[in-house]
Amino acid sequence: MDQLQPITFPGIDPQKPLVIAGPCSAETLEQTLQTAKELSETGIKIFRAGIWKPRTKPGGFEGVGSEGLEWLNEVKKQYGMLTATEIANRQHAEEALQAGIDILWIGARTSANPFAMQEIADTIAASGKADSLTVLVKNPVNPDLELWIGALQRIYNAGVRRLGAIHRGFSTYGKHLYRNMPQWHIPVELRLRYPNLPIICDPSHIGGKRELIAPLSQQAFDMGFNGLIVESHCNPDCAWSDAAQQVTPEILNFILNTLVIRDSHQTTESLTLLRQQIDRIDNELLDILAKRMGVCRDIGRYKKEHRMSVVQAGRYNDIIRSRVKAGEDMGMGAEFMKTILLAIHDESVRQQIEIINDRAK
Ligand code: PEP
Ligand code: MN
Repeated sequence: MDQLQPITFPGIDPQKPLVIAGPCSAETLEQTLQTAKELSETGIKIFRAGIWKPRTKPGGFEGVGSEGLEWLNEVKKQYGMLTATEIANRQHAEEALQAGIDILWIGARTSANPFAMQEIADTIAASGKADSLTVLVKNPVNPDLELWIGALQRIYNAGVRRLGAIHRGFSTYGKHLYRNMPQWHIPVELRLRYPNLPIICDPSHIGGKRELIAPLSQQAFDMGFNGLIVESHCNPDCAWSDAAQQVTPEILNFILNTLVIRDSHQTTESLTLLRQQIDRIDNELLDILAKRMGVCRDIGRYKKEHRMSVVQAGRYNDIIRSRVKAGEDMGMGAEFMKTILLAIHDESVRQQIEIINDRAK
């Protein structure tokens, strides 16, 4: 995936994080238009709504289906917003492409299924629209980075270059604070492997409750994510799906205004100076450690001459106790002090043994 293109749209500031918002599901034409109106009034430019809803169990609201495509086009016409919806199979892909939906996303239950992903990728490739399309791939329900990457690669291989990932957390058994565990190290690893792949956070599905949208969104920005996809409904308590995690457009606007967006690329002069200090101190640390090892080797020579054992238990315990205490007095944790002193001691012993066995250079 080395020819990815940035996901930018005319009229949307490319320097700012991408924000996609809208209801979990389009329920009625009125609810769709009312939510879109309120969102567009707060400056949201990309509207999301699920029309095909993959539900865990039968009997739930499974979405309004193809009819919703017309509602999304109405949103585009009336409020000038870009539209985004979820697709899960060939038919959804064909219909959404035909309707001119701007952004297609693939849900967590679908990205876990390579046959469904390939079918969608083939449909996109055959449509001839791959190069103008934006596709976002949610992480699979299970914490499997390779499966997520595989799903992204299938879409990339279909010719899509405006490709992004959505982090929506990972399923676990039992009740937890989060509906889906964030396991931040997984999207972070994805970022390290594909630095040019935009990653968008879905705090609604990670948290499962509205109170968690703000802290999760802030955490995502602090970690350098490129945007958010948030569920927002004109009347959240009456939503037909995911009611507990939806917020009104007004509350969403309030949340977005509280978030601090840090620029991970901009380093100020004072940060550069501080980093230079760290570099210098690290060099001093290495120098001092090397000096300490030199003294250990001298001790090794002495012990060899006097036929003494390398480890002198009494001295060793005294060293650990007194240094841990001194470190704590200087504001460092006892565990950290023990770990670092043990590591230094192990290396000192190794160097002394080298001398005693006459393998020293
Ligand atoms: C959704 O975005 O409404 C949705 C169904 O999400 P997920 O695939 O993350 O469960
Ligand atoms: Mn939802």
